[in-house]
Amino acid sequence: MPGKKIDCLLIHVPKETTDHGIQMTFMAMGVFAMADVLQKNGYSSRIIHLGVEKIADSEFSIEKYLMNNDVRSVGISLHWHYQSGNCMSLVDKIKSIQPKIKVILGGFTASFFADEIMRDFRNVDFVIRGDAEIPLLRLIKAITGNRSDLSQIPNLSWRRKDLVIHNNQTYVATEADINRLIFSNFELMEHFDIYSRVPLILRRYSKELLLKHSTFFLCVGRGCPVVCSFCGGSCLSQRIINGRDGVIYRSYESVLKTIEDSVRAGIDRLYVSFDPDPNREYYLGLFRLIREREIKISMVFECWSLPTLVFIDEFKTTFGSGKYSGIVLSPDTASERLRQLNKGFFYTNDDLIKVVQYLKSNCIQTAVYFSYPLPFESTDDRDRTDSLMKSIKRELQNYGMVSIQDFDLDPASSMYLFPAKYGIVKKVTSFSDYCNTQRKRKFLPQDLNDTGFKNTYQKWLNLAAAEEKVSQGQVCFTLNSYEDASQKALQAVKLAPQETGAYLLLGSCYERTNSYDDAMNVYREALDIAPDEGIFYLRLASIYSALGEYGTALVEANRAIELGYDDSGVRLLVGYCYEKTGDFAKAIENFTKAEEMNSDAYYANFSLSNCYREIGQIERANKEMDKGYLKFKKQRKARIPESIG
Ligand code: SF4
Repeated sequence: MPGKKIDCLLIHVPKETTDHGIQMTFMAMGVFAMADVLQKNGYSSRIIHLGVEKIADSEFSIEKYLMNNDVRSVGISLHWHYQSGNCMSLVDKIKSIQPKIKVILGGFTASFFADEIMRDFRNVDFVIRGDAEIPLLRLIKAITGNRSDLSQIPNLSWRRKDLVIHNNQTYVATEADINRLIFSNFELMEHFDIYSRVPLILRRYSKELLLKHSTFFLCVGRGCPVVCSFCGGSCLSQRIINGRDGVIYRSYESVLKTIEDSVRAGIDRLYVSFDPDPNREYYLGLFRLIREREIKISMVFECWSLPTLVFIDEFKTTFGSGKYSGIVLSPDTASERLRQLNKGFFYTNDDLIKVVQYLKSNCIQTAVYFSYPLPFESTDDRDRTDSLMKSIKRELQNYGMVSIQDFDLDPASSMYLFPAKYGIVKKVTSFSDYCNTQRKRKFLPQDLNDTGFKNTYQKWLNLAAAEEKVSQGQVCFTLNSYEDASQKALQAVKLAPQETGAYLLLGSCYERTNSYDDAMNVYREALDIAPDEGIFYLRLASIYSALGEYGTALVEANRAIELGYDDSGVRLLVGYCYEKTGDFAKAIENFTKAEEMNSDAYYANFSLSNCYREIGQIERANKEMDKGYLKFKKQRKARIPESIG
C-alpha cells in the first residue's frame, strides 16, 4: 500500500507540443506558499511538476504516482492559458484512475473561466478563484473532514448536486497576508534541484538539457497599476480575476528570507517579474539590504517601464558581478504611437536607446523584446520595428539579445474583453477554445484575414520558424549530434537568411569537427549578411589563433572590439595572441583589461604572471600568480553543484 499520505498534491503541468517542445516549464510562484500553508496547518502536501518528474524518471507516470501514494485531493495550477489542454487531459486521467480523488483547479486562467469549467468539465470538482492560500486550506479541511456544506469557503466554485455555486470572492490577500506566507519551503517539492535548472523551453525530457545554473522566481508582490492591451495580468484583469485593486508588496524581511533560503538551497539566480513603480524606490531599499547582508546571487529583472539610471547603477552594484544577471526590456514596438495606445507605461525611443547604451556601457546583459501584431499596427510601424531591432542588436553586441514574439491572446486582457476597441477579431471565446486551439492564431487584426496576416508578417513568421530550427539544432549540438545540428542550421538559413544564430550554430558544428575552413566560410558568409555582428569576427579570430596565425587573429579580434564586441574573453584572446607574437606590453594591456572586465577571471592573472616573467619583472609575476591562485581557490571553494540525478 501507498507510500506517502498526501492530503493535497499540488501539480504543475507544462505545455507539451509535438513540434515546439515543452513550454511553461516554470511554476506559478504561489504554489510553494500554498503547499507551505497546508503543511503548517497539519495537512500533508507535496508539489510535483510533471515535466520534472519525467526528467527524473523516464518511466514516470501519474498513474503510478497515484497508485503508490495515498492522495486525497489534487490541486492543479492552471495559471497560463497555454496549459489549458494539458491540464484538462490530466484532470480526466486522474479521475479515470481514481475517481474518488477530489480535483481542484486554481490560477488566473482557471479563475477567469471558473463558470464554464464547472459547468462543462464534470471531472473538475472545484475551482478556487483568485488568491488561493486560505480558500485552499479551508477546502482541504472540509474535504478531509468529509464536510459537504462548502458555502462558507471564500472564492470557491463548487457544485451542490448539479447546481454550480460561486461563493463570494472575499479573500483578496493583503500585504499582511502575503508577509505571513513562506515562498521558499523547497523541501515540499519533489526534485527541486532539477526544477531549478529546467530551461524555459525544453526540447525533450532529458537531464543532459538542464541548465548549468539554477534559477528561482522570486515573489515580491502582487498586482499591477496599469493596463497593457495584451496582458492578462493588468490592473483591469486583476480586478476581474482576483478582486484586487492596486498593488501590494511583501515586506523586506519576508523577501530577504526567501532570498536567503534560495542561496542556502544553491540557487544561482533570482528572476523578478514584478515592477509596478517606475521609480523603483522599493527595490533601491531591497538592493541596499542585500548588499548589507553580503548576499551573493545573480538577478534577472524584468522592467515593466524603462529603468532609471539610478536603478541601473544600484542593480549593477548589487548584482552586476553575478554571472547570470541581466535586465529585460519590452518596448514591443518602434512606434511611439502604438506604445502609447497599447502599453501602460510609455517611453520614447530616444529614452529607450539611451538606456540600452547605458546598460551596455555598464556591461549588463540585456534582453529586449518586441511583439506583433499590435493593435493598430501599420506596415510602416512594422518596418520601423524591424530597423529598431537591428540597431539595438548592433548596439548591444555581446551584451544582449533582441527577440520578436508572436502575440497570443490572454484571457481577461483588454484585447480579449474589448476586441472592437482594439480593432481585432477574436478566434477564441471560451475555455474550450483555449483547450483546443493551442497552436492556432487566437486573434487577427480586423483588416487582415489569415492570408493577409501571413503576407504582412511573413518575414517575422519565417524568423520564428528559423529560430525554432536553431533551438532544435542547439539541442542536437549539446548532445554532440553535429550532423543533425548542421541540418537544422541549414534549414534555418533557408527559412530566414537574416537569422544569424543559424550561421553561428553551423560554424560551431564545423569547428567541433575540426573543419576550420568550412567554419570560416560560414562566418564570412554571415558577415556578408550582418557586417556589424562582432561575434563572427571573434569566431574567425579564435580559429586563426587555434591555427597559430596570431597576426590574422589579432586583425579579426580587433574588428570585433571596434564594433563594440568587447569583454573579458575577447581581451584574453587578444592578450594571448600578443603574448604569442612576443608583444608583451600589448599582451599585459589586454590581460589587465580582461581582469578589469571580469574580476573573477583568474586566467588573466596567470597570463599576466607569464608576461611579467618574460620581461623580467619577477616580483610582479609572483604577485599576479598569487592573485590568480587565490581567485582560483575561492572559485573552487564556491558551491560545486551536486550532480543531478
Ligand atoms: S505587461 Fe503591462 S499590464 Fe501586464 S503586468 Fe506588465 S505592466 Fe502590467
